[in-house]
Amino acid sequence: MTSARKLIAGNWKMNGLRADLAEISTLAESLEAEAFDGDVAVCPPATLAALAVDLVAGKPVKIGGQDCHAEAAGAFTGDISAEKWTDLGAEYVIVGHSERREYYREDNAIVKAKAAAAIRAGLTPIICIGESLAEREAGKTLDVLGEQIAGCIPSEAKNTAIVVAYEPLWAIGTGHTPTLEQIGEAHAFMRKALTNEIGAMAATTPLLYGGSVKPANAKDILATNDVDGALVGGASLKASDFLQIIRAA
Ligand code: PEP
Repeated sequence: MTSARKLIAGNWKMNGLRADLAEISTLAESLEAEAFDGDVAVCPPATLAALAVDLVAGKPVKIGGQDCHAEAAGAFTGDISAEKWTDLGAEYVIVGHSERREYYREDNAIVKAKAAAAIRAGLTPIICIGESLAEREAGKTLDVLGEQIAGCIPSEAKNTAIVVAYEPLWAIGTGHTPTLEQIGEAHAFMRKALTNEIGAMAATTPLLYGGSVKPANAKDILATNDVDGALVGGASLKASDFLQIIRAA
C-alpha cells in the first residue's frame, strides 16, 4: 500500500460521438450510488469535453484533456492550451501519451513543458512513460523509465500534485500485459526515481499502470505494490466495463 490517492482514468482517444456521452452519464450516476474511495476521471475527445463537464457536475467523475500545448495562447492552429482546458472545467490532462510521442514526435523536453503548462493552469498532468518492446527485450526498461522521469517531470512537481502513468508501448491496445512482477518492478523503480526528482511528493504521487487493463485483469494489477490506479483506453469506452475496473480497485 502506498499513501497516494487512487485514480482510475479513462482515455477515450479519438473515439466517441455525442451519443456516447450516455456512457459518461451512466458512469457518473452509478458512482454516485457507490462509495469509491479514490478519484475517477474520463478524458474524452475535445469535442465532447465541455458537454461531459456539464454532465458530471456535482458527481464523482472528473473530466480531463488528452493533450495540451505548452503555450497559454497564440497562433497554434488546432491546438488546445492547458488554460483552455481549465476554462472548460477539466481537472486533468494527459501529456506524453505514447501515441503523441510516436505520431507527433513529442520528446521528453516537450512533454516536460506540457506538464509544466498543465500545472501553471491549475490542472493535474497525467504524465505517461513506458518502454517499447525492443527496449524491454534488450533489458533496458528501467533505464528508459529513468531517462523519461529525469526528462519529463517538471520541477514544479516538487510542490504540486502530478500523476505518472507507466504504459509499456507493447501493452497499449494489444491485449498483452506485463507480468505482475514486471509491473511491480517498474512501479517500485518509478517511485524511487521520482523521489530523486521531486522528493517527498513522490510518496503521494499516484502511479498508474496503463496498457490493456480489462475487467478480467484489473483486480490483480491494481493489487500490485506501488500501483495506485490505472489509465484505461479501450475498456473505458463502455461504462459497464469501466465500472468493473473501478470496483476492482
Ligand atoms: C491508453 O491508451 O492509454 C491505453 C492504456 O489503452 P488500452 O487500455 O486500450 O491498452
